[in-house]
Amino acid sequence: MRPEILFPYYTSLTSLKGVGPKIAPHLIKHVGPYVRDLIFTLPSQLIFRPVTCIKDARPGQVQTILVTIGSYQRAVGKGPQRIVVYDDTGQMQLTYFHAIRGFELQHPVGEQRWISGRLESFGANLQMNHPDYVVPLDKQDTIPLFETVYPATAAVSPRLMRRFVEAGLALTPGLPEWLDPATLQQLNVSGFSESLRAAHHPTAEADLSPQSPARRRLAYDEALAHQLAMKARKQHRQASPAMVIHKRGWAQRAMDGLPFALTGAQVRALADIRRDLDSGLRMNRLIQGDVGSGKTLIALMAMIDVAEAGHQSVMMAPTEILARQHYEKALPVLEPLGLSTVLMTGRDKGAAREAKRRAVATGEAALIFGTHAVFQEGVDFSSLHFCVIDEQHRFGVGQRQRLFQKGESVHYLSMSATPIPRTLALTQYGEADLSILDEKPAGRQPIHTAVIPRARLSDVFQRLKTAIAGGSQAYWICPLVEENEESDLIAVEARHASLQEALGREVGLVHGRMPSLEKEDVVARFASGALPLLCATTVVEVGIDVPNASIIIIEQAERFGLAQLHQLRGRVGRGAAQSACILLYDLPLGNTAKARLELLRTTEDGFAIAEMDWKLRGEGDVLGARQSGFPAYRFVDPDAHGDLIVMAAREAQYILQHEGQFSVERRKALDVLRQLFDWRPDASDKTD
Ligand code: ADP
Ligand code: MG
Repeated sequence: MRPEILFPYYTSLTSLKGVGPKIAPHLIKHVGPYVRDLIFTLPSQLIFRPVTCIKDARPGQVQTILVTIGSYQRAVGKGPQRIVVYDDTGQMQLTYFHAIRGFELQHPVGEQRWISGRLESFGANLQMNHPDYVVPLDKQDTIPLFETVYPATAAVSPRLMRRFVEAGLALTPGLPEWLDPATLQQLNVSGFSESLRAAHHPTAEADLSPQSPARRRLAYDEALAHQLAMKARKQHRQASPAMVIHKRGWAQRAMDGLPFALTGAQVRALADIRRDLDSGLRMNRLIQGDVGSGKTLIALMAMIDVAEAGHQSVMMAPTEILARQHYEKALPVLEPLGLSTVLMTGRDKGAAREAKRRAVATGEAALIFGTHAVFQEGVDFSSLHFCVIDEQHRFGVGQRQRLFQKGESVHYLSMSATPIPRTLALTQYGEADLSILDEKPAGRQPIHTAVIPRARLSDVFQRLKTAIAGGSQAYWICPLVEENEESDLIAVEARHASLQEALGREVGLVHGRMPSLEKEDVVARFASGALPLLCATTVVEVGIDVPNASIIIIEQAERFGLAQLHQLRGRVGRGAAQSACILLYDLPLGNTAKARLELLRTTEDGFAIAEMDWKLRGEGDVLGARQSGFPAYRFVDPDAHGDLIVMAAREAQYILQHEGQFSVERRKALDVLRQLFDWRPDASDKTD
């Protein structure tokens, strides 16, 4: 139930004075349906209108001047309308390019008028095109000294926006304080309503900064409401019972058979997962770790626990290549345990497919690996209790749900090799529990990374030839930003041809436009060592594991995202040999691009790279994760308000744990906060 005090906030915009049937649809499209949406739209700019005289007026700036209307310079034919105006210090002209109703009445010759607007040079003189204000002497106070400018559209001008916002603010009552005094003091801000009004009435440039106290208060409230909503869903999920899995024996045997020991981070992650499996409540956990940090192995151990308990589990990957790789790497671990497993992909047909489906339906197959094929109609499990999804962001929420529905109250583990900054983890995956693999398995050699201009291509060819003659394998990556970009495709094919020629050997070619069977065959030949070099687009980006490959060359590296380059580089450095990554770039190289490549050269720490990527993207990368990763915040600016998000996450946790002991007033106030921001579950986060 929505608290009564919020009714005015949720009033339709059409109830505001001036919002008639004509403007309403435009305004609603611009800000949203409610008064709340309007007053949650903050000004983007502040115009200062200092008063001056003509002699002191400066072109390029907005100024207010008291002038006397001189003569009209009637346009000959259709030209602009010009009026000469003057004061004691000089003269200038007003210019109008299109007609205005009541023009002569507004500009009566011989009378004084306050004019305000941007001044421009016009030859040796000054002019003002279409002044923002032309008002009589006694109306000077209608020209604000500071004028807030709102994001506008063709139909809703900044000035209309300002008028409507004022009407909206007048309509909405102040709200009770939902923050506790300690938090208020720590943030050093005023109340919500006061801050909202302050944010709408800036008096200096600094007031528009995301760091202004008013905007920080609003951002904090929004982040808190969002965290409360996510954590409430998490509590709800955690309250849903699931199968208790408490077996460790088989996985222990499997681990004893491995030629290496788990890293400390792997031990911790496995303990996290087992605690969830053991809890009797549904798991929703994300394991995050760099490529090669050992996520898949840990997930496999948990799947073995589930099998020992007599249930099925599935590991789903976004591509056939990856699914097959999971399957093939699992086989030697599972076979000694006598565990039966199947690989299901779109490639399965006819009788073979039926046999696999039967193995899954009867429970004969304990561990199932596959692609989208695993959640299709006609695939039924006998007892599915655990789902592992690799690169979960490559699947839609609906697809994941279809898989979960194959079982009952399934435990869910997702794996991601994309390191993300903490603030993003809190906002995007706030609902999942997080285990981080921040340790590389021992014995991995650092990868030597070099940044080289494409002009030195022949050197690179030469070195590559020598390395391959010595038995090394290598990847050559060409950018293919859009799978349908013809010019990129031609470039890949041309590069493939020139590599074959330079090396005098057959070179593998893989790109997104090839049929997946064909792609897979090429990758398999590369993996087996039959092909020394694989020329590819980013299809090799996720997960492909060929330990003998020790060189990766990335052409036009400046066209790739930083996280993507890091992932690509992770294709090498998987074996014991010293590995190399060569980033080739084209000139000219911008400063940001240079900084990105340099960062990659100097560090292999995926989290550091992600953090930095984040900062560098701040310079306007429209394809950045900012757009896709963050919920639709109105006040929170993830770059500026990271500290607030972290703090809000902590406070939300505290509130959910202690709310029962809060005073009735405080609980009511928190309810107002929740309803004011009204986070609908699906709009805000990507886990389920
Ligand atoms: P991820 O899924 O994080 O990319 P994997 O689990 O696929 O990592 O592991 C990458 C490679 O490293 C695999 O060949 C795996 O067998 C191996 N590996 C996993 N854990 C360790 C470890 N603790 N020590 C050495 N090698 C490991
Ligand atoms: Mg992996």
